[in-house]
Amino acid sequence: MTRCLGTIISGGQRSICHHTLLKCKNCGNSGCNRQKISQCTKQGFFNNKCLKCGTKDQNEIV
Ligand SMILES: [Zn+2]
Ligand SMILES: [Zn+2]
Repeated sequence: MTRCLGTIISGGQRSICHHTLLKCKNCGNSGCNRQKISQCTKQGFFNNKCLKCGTKDQNEIV
C-alpha cells in the first residue's frame, strides 16, 4: 500500500497528505481519493470518481 505524498494547505499550514494512493483501472491515473476538491495537490479522485477520465468506482489500491 502506498501513501499519497501530496501537500495539503489549510489555514496557511502545509502538511503531507498521507492518504492511501489509488489508481484508476480505466486510464491509469493515480492519486488520493477525497470528499472535497483541491484538498491535496496530488488528488486523483473525488468521491471515488476519477478526476482525469470521470469513471466512478473503478479504482484500486496501489
Ligand atoms: Zn493526497
Ligand atoms: Zn481514470
